[in-house]
Amino acid sequence: MVGTIQEEIKKIKEYAIAENIPIMQDDGIAFLANFIIKNKINTVLEIGTAIGYSAIIMALTNPNLKVVSIERDEKRYLEALKNIKRLKLEDRITLIFKDALDVTLDEKFDLIFIDAAKSQSINFFEKFEVNLEDNGYIITDNMNFHGYVQKSEDEIKSKNLRALVRKIKEYHEFLANNTDYVTIFHELGDGISVSRKKTDEERL
Ligand code: SAM
Repeated sequence: MVGTIQEEIKKIKEYAIAENIPIMQDDGIAFLANFIIKNKINTVLEIGTAIGYSAIIMALTNPNLKVVSIERDEKRYLEALKNIKRLKLEDRITLIFKDALDVTLDEKFDLIFIDAAKSQSINFFEKFEVNLEDNGYIITDNMNFHGYVQKSEDEIKSKNLRALVRKIKEYHEFLANNTDYVTIFHELGDGISVSRKKTDEERL
């Protein structure tokens, strides 16, 4: 590592801004880090690494924490690898360069963090919930999508954006109606949902 941890993280954030790479907002990442500490999370599966910012912050919360993170964009994946090496976290953060929908994993995780293509969140949830530990959580970022989810369709000019917002609303409904989980929607960062898998007793 060349600089201090804080300096390295500052550089990663500056690179994200310069290259227009979406990373978690400050209050969102602070929430995630506190959540990991409070709930004694030891293993995380992240869908959507970008350049490794959130994976690194999560790993720094706890020296025993292990993260597996999936990214499909090669340039971002390579940048993430570089950042993780600079912070000497390569033993605890494993990156997979692939489309997450083509990845099959056997391991189970305490937390699954969904932060990839927003139109695919239901697919990610349904694909990876088999990898969730019994008392695990699924957290999803960008539930408000920069405030567009709260707007009416007439207010959104772009057709693609309208379609994306519709998908996020569908995901919201999917979570709210999913009786296997209890979901809380937090109005911080860009909107964060926390879904806790119900115990067998709760499901009776
Ligand atoms: N979690 C990162 C952070 O806060 O530092 C930000 C992730 S960024 C919002 C979303 C990333 O997901 C992008 O880099 C994008 O290339 C990746 N992505 C989108 N769909 C994906 C998919 N199906 N499989 C793997 N990666 C995907």
